[in-house]
This record gives sequence, structure tokens and C-alpha cells, in this order.
Amino acid sequence: MIIQIEQFIKPKEKEIILSAINKIGYKTTEVKTQKGIYLVCIGKKEFDIRYIGSLDGVEDVHRVSEAYKLVSRKWKVNASEIDLGDGVKIGENNLTLMAGPCSIESEEQVEKIVSHLVENKVKIMRGGVFKPRSSPYAFRGMGLEGLKMFNRVCKKNGIKIITEVMQVSQIDDMIDYVDVFQIGARNSQNFNLLDALGKVDKPVLIKRGMSGTIDELLQSAEYIFSNGNEKLMLCERGIRTYETAYRNTFDINAIPILKEKTHLPIIADPSHGIGIREHVPMIALAAMMAGADGVIYEIHEKPEEAASDGQQTLNFDESKQLINRLNNNYLLK
Ligand code: PEP
Ligand code: MN
Repeated sequence: MIIQIEQFIKPKEKEIILSAINKIGYKTTEVKTQKGIYLVCIGKKEFDIRYIGSLDGVEDVHRVSEAYKLVSRKWKVNASEIDLGDGVKIGENNLTLMAGPCSIESEEQVEKIVSHLVENKVKIMRGGVFKPRSSPYAFRGMGLEGLKMFNRVCKKNGIKIITEVMQVSQIDDMIDYVDVFQIGARNSQNFNLLDALGKVDKPVLIKRGMSGTIDELLQSAEYIFSNGNEKLMLCERGIRTYETAYRNTFDINAIPILKEKTHLPIIADPSHGIGIREHVPMIALAAMMAGADGVIYEIHEKPEEAASDGQQTLNFDESKQLINRLNNNYLLK
């Protein structure tokens, strides 16, 4: 059960609510986010929820039986929207595009990509400066200095930044330079990182783990929300299956299922989802038609020369074509 209590609840009213929950033998966790105060109550006993709803200071109350609760549609029926400021909003009312290289490589590279984004009205640039790589000998990113440069070029041009944070100790250094923190597939169940990102007031995009179930992704999101950060979105980026004909199996089914189960925005990553440049646009379009609220994909002026993931990276012409096709088809939906 989740109870939302009034922002300026009187101590006495809160005490009465807590004692009523205590009486039915439920354990309570209080969650305070940017938007509200919630009591997440866990227990088994049947009781009359209308009684809780009638208490002074209760704004809303619902039963939620799933392991994830605050991120559930059973708690919040209407879709959530994340406001990045300057009119950039992520949610059900528009299709959000985020594009950029797998890795930030140089100022010149960022400038060229920013121009492409500005020209095509894309408001958010992706790009990793801390890169999780399978091989320790591969390019592992430009680090914090790269992020500062990335930020400088983007801010000059009114572009928002999404970039991956790999560990708790990086958060403080990065926070002033990012608009959205990305949690990579490999960190999808790094519970210390999830706890820490729940304590910051910055939007977070959390990717599905390579072998993570939908339920596990939702529970990871619950970690962040229950620590106080409800500016959250989820990302389907493909899972690992027995199939070897492509990099990952993009789970198109996950999109309508997630939309049904959670009120959080759902973003599709077709680049990592299939891993093959020629097919990225089709998967992006399919994801949009399946109900995704946004698409994040990799671009580079010269994909063949990209420091990482060139094989799944679109060039500017391909990106422009994809943007047009996404926008035109979104209008027809
Ligand atoms: C990325 O976005 O470049 C990335 C490393 O993604 P993932 O965590 O999905 O592999
Ligand atoms: Mn990549």
C-alpha cells in the first residue's frame, strides 16, 4: 500500500496515520521526493483501505501488490513527465530524441554533432566520457575534462546532456555538468549507485541489464524513486539471448509491457539494441510505434572512425532521415 500524505501535514495527523498502519501490522518506509511525501507500507493482512483514506492528512492511498510500488501504474495512473528546463520535456506528450556519439572524443567532434542536432531540432545530446568497455585495452573515455568540454559546447548551443555515470564517487564531480545521468546496462543492478542517484535532484535514465528482466528493471527504478528522486526514465537497450546474428536482442515487447506497468517515460535504444548500423532506423521506428516516449541513438560524422561502437553508429545523413521518419510517423500514430 502507498499513502501520499499532505506536504504540510500536522505532526498529530501523521502520528494517527502511522499508528493506524502499525495496528494492521504493516512496516512503513517514508519517502520524500521532489514532488511529494509517501508512506510505502508492506504487509499481508487484509484491511479496509477506505479507513486509511478517510484519515486527516492523507492525500491519496492505493494498494500496490507488486515488488515495485512507487514506479507502478497502480500507484500513479497518469504518465509522468520529466522537465529538463528550457521547454525540454520527456514524457507521453511528445517524442524525445537523444543522439550523439558512443564516446566523446574531441571538441571538434562535439561541435560537429551539436550543429547536426541544432539543425534538426534535437534538444538532447548523448555521449560517454566514462565508458564501460569489455576490454581494458579499449578506449575508456575522456573522463571529467571531456565532460566539461562537452558541457561547454552544448550549453553554448542550448543542448542538454545525457552521459553515463559508472560509480558513486563520480556523481559529485559530474553533477554540475550533466542534465541526465545515464545508468548503463552493466550497472543496472548496482544498488549502491541506484541508492546514491536516488539522493540527487537530477533526472536519471536507467538501462535494462543485459540479462535483466522487466521486473528487475522496475525494481531498480524503485531503488532510485524510494531514495527520493522521481525524475526517472527507463530504457530498453536489448538483452542477451542465444541469438548471435546481431549484438543484442532488442525486446520490442518490453515497451508496451513497461508502458502498462509503470508511469515512467520509456526510452528505446536501437543502437545497442541491434548493434548493426543499417538496421538501427527500422528498430527505432518499430520502438516508437510500440509506444516508446523517446529514442536514444548513436551518431558520428564518420562512424567508421568512431572510437567505440562505430558499427552501430549512424552518419549525419542517416540520422537526418531517421529524425524525419520518426517525426512523420509519430504524427500519424
Ligand atoms: C552506451 O550507451 O554507450 C552504453 C555503454 O550502453 P549500454 O550500457 O546499454 O551497453
Ligand atoms: Mn555505445
